[in-house]
Amino acid sequence: MTYRTHTVFHVKITLTSRTLRAMLLKCQKEPFLQQLTSRVISCHEVKKGKKKHYEVVLEDTIMFAEGGGQPCDHGVLRVVPSDVSDIEKLSLTNIKVHDVQRKLGTAVHYTDNSVAVGSEVNMEVDWKRRYDHMQQHTGQHLLSAIAEQKPYNFKTVSWNLGATICHVELNTPSISDEVKSEIEQKINSLIQSGRPVTTKVYASKDDQGLSSAHTRGLPADHTGPVRVIEIEGVDENMCCGTHLNSLAQLQMIKLLHTESKRGNTLLYFVCGDRVLKTLQSALEVQQKLNVLLSSPPELFASMVEKLSKDHRTARKNAEKLSEELASLHATTLLNSTDKVLVVQRPTPDSEYSLTLQRDMRDACEKRLLLLTMGEQGGAQFVFRGPVDVVDKLGKGLAQKLGGKGGGRDGKFQGKFTDLAMVEDAVQYLRDNFE
Ligand SMILES: [Zn+2]
Repeated sequence: MTYRTHTVFHVKITLTSRTLRAMLLKCQKEPFLQQLTSRVISCHEVKKGKKKHYEVVLEDTIMFAEGGGQPCDHGVLRVVPSDVSDIEKLSLTNIKVHDVQRKLGTAVHYTDNSVAVGSEVNMEVDWKRRYDHMQQHTGQHLLSAIAEQKPYNFKTVSWNLGATICHVELNTPSISDEVKSEIEQKINSLIQSGRPVTTKVYASKDDQGLSSAHTRGLPADHTGPVRVIEIEGVDENMCCGTHLNSLAQLQMIKLLHTESKRGNTLLYFVCGDRVLKTLQSALEVQQKLNVLLSSPPELFASMVEKLSKDHRTARKNAEKLSEELASLHATTLLNSTDKVLVVQRPTPDSEYSLTLQRDMRDACEKRLLLLTMGEQGGAQFVFRGPVDVVDKLGKGLAQKLGGKGGGRDGKFQGKFTDLAMVEDAVQYLRDNFE
């Protein structure tokens, strides 16, 4: 059996006398309790940004305050009128609890409505959210325990219970796919064995039932009870969180990808209902790709490879065609006697633009070239000509187009939106260029 102190942040979060007092709240004594009636000790108005909230402290609570890597619970409070004994028969107004935090050794519930001090409240925890957290948290204990065993010896440095996936940070630079799948198999067979998960609360760190391994990491001056989560025959671990009472309730673990972080490895995972959710969203992506690629999943990779190759070839061809078209257009323009040459293209095309400007470079020593590209609502322009003329007319041209731009050395370019302005802009060039 591994005796583990929790990770660094657990030590920081759980091993203060304040939080150890908070450990003895009802949510930690009976994590499967979904409803509880308690009394309001205090209710203070606070401002969080622009919003007004209330900090409500109760005599006891089944709502877990964020800590030990586990996010807080959500839920509702319902004020019980003092003259009614059977709360089951009442339809009471729900006061939403949207956050629970530890403060001064107790749990503070954040609500949008105030509750009278001294009143009795019936509280109900958002069970779906809580049960999910219990599955992920017990899963993390199990994963950390197996990863720390021989031959791996990966210690958990930190962990995160995210909204969709979780991770443990292990003190190893890498984990091979083989090791990952071996750890996953070991954990899943322990889950199938349905071993009990129990919580023991020891009165103090000097309790005879506690071995030194249990209390490793506890401050020497620690007073108060010590809470230990045990996975039978696998792991004992100091922790303030809420846990399942059997590994069977974990259902399954799926280890996902890994990521490097400052010499450590983040190993991502999902447990319980999240495994099915992850599978479902993977299947949805697969179905979309199935339609888009008109092929079964086993051919996705080769199909995408082929499409990407086709795309590269098509792009090269299009570039070549653009260059050829621009050269043809340049020849036609050079044959005209017009001093202001205008080309309008329906889409932005850098190959076309560069080739046209290259082929017209000499002509632009004496003549003007206006190239516009794009559609109504979003177009760009390039204006070329003798340096002094472009310097003189560039800004006026942009103005006539109703757009903006800049440039130098005989080139002025910018953006505009209304293609109907081109005619007037061309007239402006003709009027001002002798
Ligand atoms: Zn824990």
